Amino acid sequence: MATTSRREILGGLGAGMVLAGMATRAGAAPARKIGYAIVGLGSYATRQIMPNFAGCEHARLVALVSGTPAKLDQYGAQYGIAATHRYSYADFDRIRDNPDIDVVYVVLPNSMHAEYSIRAAQAGKHVMCEKPMAVSVAECEAMIAACRKAGTKLMIGYRSRFEPYNRLAIELARGGHVGPTRLITAEHGFPARPDQWRLDRPLSGGGSMMDIGIYSLNAARYLTGEEPVSVSAVETTDKADPRFKTVEDRISFLLRFPSGIVANCISSYSSSHNGYRVIGTQGWIDMEPATPYQGQSMSIRKDGVTTPRTLPPAAKNQFAGQLDHMAECIVNGTTPIVPGEEGLADMRVIEAIYRSAAERREVAIRA
Ligand code: NAD
Repeated sequence: MATTSRREILGGLGAGMVLAGMATRAGAAPARKIGYAIVGLGSYATRQIMPNFAGCEHARLVALVSGTPAKLDQYGAQYGIAATHRYSYADFDRIRDNPDIDVVYVVLPNSMHAEYSIRAAQAGKHVMCEKPMAVSVAECEAMIAACRKAGTKLMIGYRSRFEPYNRLAIELARGGHVGPTRLITAEHGFPARPDQWRLDRPLSGGGSMMDIGIYSLNAARYLTGEEPVSVSAVETTDKADPRFKTVEDRISFLLRFPSGIVANCISSYSSSHNGYRVIGTQGWIDMEPATPYQGQSMSIRKDGVTTPRTLPPAAKNQFAGQLDHMAECIVNGTTPIVPGEEGLADMRVIEAIYRSAAERREVAIRA
């Protein structure tokens, strides 16, 4: 294999722009670190979010909320969180009286997102909420209204928007690097293990689409920068599989965008997928895996030549990047790049996907 040139390593012009965009703007650094309370000490919160405060410049972990006293003891001790800053769900509204808490980060099962986000806003706190934002358009709208009324910010945990390869893919795709985009394919899925809230509709709001298919949908939207006008969806669920008593397994959905771009997407709870491809008139941009916690891989085919693109290690990973972004938005009075409206836009499409699959027809998506 030929020696990789510096230009290839940096990914050319696009990478330079990405790295510049990731840097903290001059004069924008918060005077003090913004304090986060984490609500729900499950797998994602404890394994991905909490350890990454260590890499933050502007955000720090100051409080914990859990229904399990042993977890409050364990993680409180591990992260040096005082007993006064540890809350049960029954205690939650007392966060109002804790000036160290600026942001409440909701990392609970999906159907609990709206309630805790709204209560956090009513306590005067900014809100970071995990994807999917909630389980219906109506809930998303209520969350946005609550934060607007309280004058607090609302951001959704779309971490890929803080990940350098995805940011480069957006620049290259929207910039026409492989010609105008004609087609996007996006696939996300994993075999769901049984006996978890994800398979219990009252807690999850739906199956693979809510949990992992949303990555295919969100990528199609961020790679085009457009909102889809219609969707055609097909569901394939083996109802004899005990995992899928109340939620769907696979959904294939085809999104039409105003410019004529079509996105052909897959969501699955019974097979492994993690990738997307942007196909333009002169080639394609491929990402596989596209949205893991680490280890993204990109290659580009242009004018008949396929080249891997490798970026230098990021100074800050996607988790620290999103935590710091919210902190900077609070200090600077700016709007997060993934506000509540972004979660609402995905939820509008998800509702249309479910309707299309149920009614076996193409469904228009209202703006
Ligand atoms: P998890 O099951 O590991 O954690 C859920 C937490 O909620 C647990 O601590 C549990 O005790 C608590 N909980 C409170 N009330 C509960 C109830 N009634 N039933 C079940 N659990 C209850 O789940 P997770 O994987 O950490 O997911 C939590 C949220 O984070 C979900 O919304 C999920 O979509 C999101 N998530 C996002 C990413 C990402 O990459 N952005 C990755 C994983 C999960």
